[in-house]
This record gives sequence, structure tokens and C-alpha cells, in this order.
Amino acid sequence: MSVIPTAPVSQLLQLKPLLDEAEIRRDIERLRRERNAVILAHNYQRPEVQQIADFVGDSLGLARQAACTDADVIVFAGVHFMAETAAILNPDKTVLLPDERAGCSLADTLTAQDVRDWKAAHPDGVVVVYVNTTADVKAEADYCVTSGNAVQIVSALPDHVPVLFAPDKFLAAHVARETGRMLDVWDGACHVHAAIRIEDITAQQEAHPDAELLIHPECGCSTRVLQQVPDLRLYSTEGMVTRARASSASSFIVVTELGMVHRLEREVPGKTFVPVAQTACCNYMKMITLENICESLRDLSGQVTVPEPIRRRALLPIERMIAIG
Ligand code: SF4
Repeated sequence: MSVIPTAPVSQLLQLKPLLDEAEIRRDIERLRRERNAVILAHNYQRPEVQQIADFVGDSLGLARQAACTDADVIVFAGVHFMAETAAILNPDKTVLLPDERAGCSLADTLTAQDVRDWKAAHPDGVVVVYVNTTADVKAEADYCVTSGNAVQIVSALPDHVPVLFAPDKFLAAHVARETGRMLDVWDGACHVHAAIRIEDITAQQEAHPDAELLIHPECGCSTRVLQQVPDLRLYSTEGMVTRARASSASSFIVVTELGMVHRLEREVPGKTFVPVAQTACCNYMKMITLENICESLRDLSGQVTVPEPIRRRALLPIERMIAIG
């Protein structure tokens, strides 16, 4: 069983300052070439980390990049389950997570034994897990999904089959609403998204009355917002980029982790993006810095591996996610 290293908040906040950013950037460039490495960064990463990445995207986009890269080394600027997914897809490559404490409060809510217990009670059931899960959990699942393809995958499941949707209860509520299906829902949530309050959205709407809302289905407030604005659409982080490009609106309130604002500003220039709250910040994501990326590339430290029996079983639900997404 792999163990997810989750650091206490007091440690997470002790982030080391950058000493000489220009020098570190040069070292990263040199090491990237020497190691034949690719740097994959999640949308919630620090702006300077997104800037040096070869690819920035959501969990599905990053998994796709990890599946097709010809690099020898994958540096994952994200959290542990993402690096595990890359390791499952690339057993012959070196996968690095520059700070091994970068866990995920949502992934921590569900264990492989929890899934085994549900399957024992529902022998004909189907287990659908969000990509924010450990390799051990994915090995017990039938399908892995992201917020971008969860509705599509659940819609395609046979009727009358019990479905466990785990671990995010807010994404599950969105999927149940969109598909009309009864789901067994795991009572899990991400501490960042669950803490976003409807009052935060209201305050930003009052300050920016013409701004369009871009809400992620993981947000704790999304169910209540939908009760007030039933035809409101929810967007995966990738969907936010697409919507911001297509919309006639010139300003947007971004209701998810605030790193997404940087991605939107870079990819949709000329429009204004307002974070719903400065407190919507994932300390785990922000543990990855230019410094520890450089150290990890130099020393090949922070290697993430998945035991082969677990890797083989976790591969199928991940491949399904990539194929359907
Ligand atoms: S934002 Fe939430 S779901 Fe995403 S990595 Fe951080 S704790 Fe996990």
C-alpha cells in the first residue's frame, strides 16, 4: 500500500523564499535538457511554476500529456495522486514530485478498503472514482473520471446498476443532477473548494456586477448557487478556459482555487478574471516551487513509484478516463 504524505498546515506554510530566481530558471533549463525531462504543471500551481512548465492543464490534460510524452523524466508540478497517475501510465520513466508532502485533502478521505467494503455490499455495482484518489483506490475502481468527463461516463453506465461515486460529494451532486441517476455518494470534499461560501460569490458579484460566473462543480457553494440560478452551468477548469474565450463577457468571477486565475489571464488575454476569494488557495499545490523543481531535477529526488500489482489494476480505469475524456 502506498502512503500519501500529507503535511500539517503549520509545515505547509513554511515555504522557502526564492534566492535567485533568474539563476534557478537557468539551472532548470539546463537540467531539463540534460535529463530529457518534461515539466507538467496543474492549473493551481504558482504563476512562476506555470510559466516554466512545458504543459499546464487539469488532471485529465496532464494525464494525457504523461501518457504520450517521450521524455525520460516527468517532473510533476502538482500533488501526489497526479504523480502516481503519471507513474502508472509510464512504468519505465522516472516520475518526480518535487515536494513529497504535496498531498490532497480530498484523496485522503477514501481508502481502498472503503471501496472494497462497498463492493462487498454491492457485488453487481460499478465504482466510479474521481481522479483525485490514490493508486490503491484506483486499483479497486471500474472507472476514473475528472470533472470534465464525469457526466459523460456516468451517463453511459447501464441503468439499474448500483453506482458508487467517490470521493467528492459536490461533484457527485452535480453528476446526479445532470444525469438524473441515483448514486451512492461518498462523503468526501476538498478543504479548499468546500470553504468557498455563497457569500464570497455574492460579494464579488456586487463588486463586479457585469462579470460572468465560472464555477467549478467541486465547490461547496455550487449546489446552493444552482438553487438560486437553476440554469447556471458549471465548468471544469479546462471548460473555464473554453467558456472565457467564447463568452461575450469581458470579466469573470473565478470560483475555484485561485491559481486558475493565472492560467486564464495567460490564455485569454484582454479579459479580466477575479478570484472568488484570496483564501481559496491550496497549500499543497503551492508547495511546489522553482527551487524544489530545480533540486528534484538535479538530484532525481522525490521519485514516485507504484507497486506493479497495484499499477496494473489501476491502469484500466485511468485508460478509460483518457479514452472517454
Ligand atoms: S485543491 Fe483540493 S482537490 Fe485540489 S489538490 Fe488541493 S486539496 Fe486536493
